[in-house]
Amino acid sequence: MIVPVINIDREKCTAPLNCAICLKACPQAVFKAKPARVYKFRETPEEEYILTAPYWPSCTGCQECVKRCPTGAITISYREVPTSGGENGNG
Ligand code: SF4
Ligand code: SF4
Repeated sequence: MIVPVINIDREKCTAPLNCAICLKACPQAVFKAKPARVYKFRETPEEEYILTAPYWPSCTGCQECVKRCPTGAITISYREVPTSGGENGNG
């Protein structure tokens, strides 16, 4: 089975909270912006948020995020993974 792998270049994605284009564009809602650091007595500044893809197993590889990202920060590659022995492909 071939599965998509989401690669995020954080040098190119520096302000995911302000941009948020891929967050809104992904039909599978794969992305999330989260604080890179958490402070005890104050909120994390916006510039310290990073883009993550916690729901990557839902990615279909549609490339919408790649097409829309203004900085070219996202690439999708494809990886072959062995199908688990329990499946017999009757769909
Ligand atoms: S390739 Fe499509 S499904 Fe996957 S993260 Fe990008 S927009 Fe979402
Ligand atoms: S569209 Fe690109 S620059 Fe904007 S938040 Fe997503 S990865 Fe970052």
